[in-house]
Amino acid sequence: MRAVAVTPETKQLGLIDLPEPRLCSPTDVKLRMLEAGVCGTDREICAFEYGIPPAGSAELVIGHESLGEVIEIGAYVTRVKVGDLVVPMVRRPCPHDYCPACRSGRQDFCFTGDFTERGIKGRHGFMAQFVVDDEQYMNPVSKELRDVAVLVEPLTIAEKALIQVWDVQQRLPWSCPVTAGKAQAHCHRAIVLGAGPVGLLGAMALVKNGFDTYVYAREPVPNPKADVLAMIGAKYLSAETHSLEALASEVGNVDLVYEATGASRLAFDMIQHLGTNGIFVFTGVPGRKGPVEIDTDLMMRNLVLKNQVVFGTVNAGRDAFEASIRDLGAFVDSWPEAVRSVITGRFPMAAHRDLLLGKSGGIKNVIELN
Ligand code: BGC
Repeated sequence: MRAVAVTPETKQLGLIDLPEPRLCSPTDVKLRMLEAGVCGTDREICAFEYGIPPAGSAELVIGHESLGEVIEIGAYVTRVKVGDLVVPMVRRPCPHDYCPACRSGRQDFCFTGDFTERGIKGRHGFMAQFVVDDEQYMNPVSKELRDVAVLVEPLTIAEKALIQVWDVQQRLPWSCPVTAGKAQAHCHRAIVLGAGPVGLLGAMALVKNGFDTYVYAREPVPNPKADVLAMIGAKYLSAETHSLEALASEVGNVDLVYEATGASRLAFDMIQHLGTNGIFVFTGVPGRKGPVEIDTDLMMRNLVLKNQVVFGTVNAGRDAFEASIRDLGAFVDSWPEAVRSVITGRFPMAAHRDLLLGKSGGIKNVIELN
């Protein structure tokens, strides 16, 4: 079968031929891969800043945002059947019995760092024609979501973040008055930093939760991302026309910030505008660009005097995948055009170099695998 792979040792990226994977256990499932999304992590792996091949292999098959169709199942498989569409999870547990997270199926909170991630760290990914894995990592999706289901994995970032936000904010009376026709966060205001796929999908999740949602990004209006946001009822403010001060004064009390740029300078400048009882979520993984100056006194005063929380989040467990599948369906019901316009191009495997190395435009580009 064909697969898109990097060889970090020789700094190569290309299509390789691999034997088709076969079922090895009665709980294994074989997928014909349909699509894989291209994301910043893939591009970093292709720039050889990130990414570790499986033990004993020089190559790493990339790809972790994906959609496949079940074509074969082991004798004990119960979660999926042949013909189902599924989105596989990315992270696999570490082997240590002293890691309570991995031993309870929560490898997204692995304590040891010895987890593996398909397409990223120590395991081949999904940019291949076929994949075999255990059924416990498969998340079935309905056929109606066929054309957008490749967005399930990038949406899990926001879903996992929001699950934690609701958990953490139980520390205070944060619930909004129950109001007919309004979602639970209707009294709160959120800012999303960045309007890439993670930011746009995050904004959709926040709007669905009821947050009055503002997205702050570089590009001036009009632009296609601002158009998507207008369709879902979020407000787009450009850094070209609004300083962070202007953004914060337009928003009012900033109850939640969802950082989706990986730009640490911007994020730490933004933390200074987080409101009373606010919560700040980091999702980006910045490159190491050298230290910058921040007003630590101001930040610490605010954290204490305004009862604030700042947390980071990575990867996703089954709960976030299930929430993502559910919400993607709800997004399509409410805003079909907005969701579809997040996917700006579908390309054959042969186009992988331009997508992974070039300055590809668009929002989310997808590689068709079969
Ligand atoms: C993936 C996560 C992964 C993270 C760090 C992200 O692009 O979506 O699943 O945990 O990279 O490797």
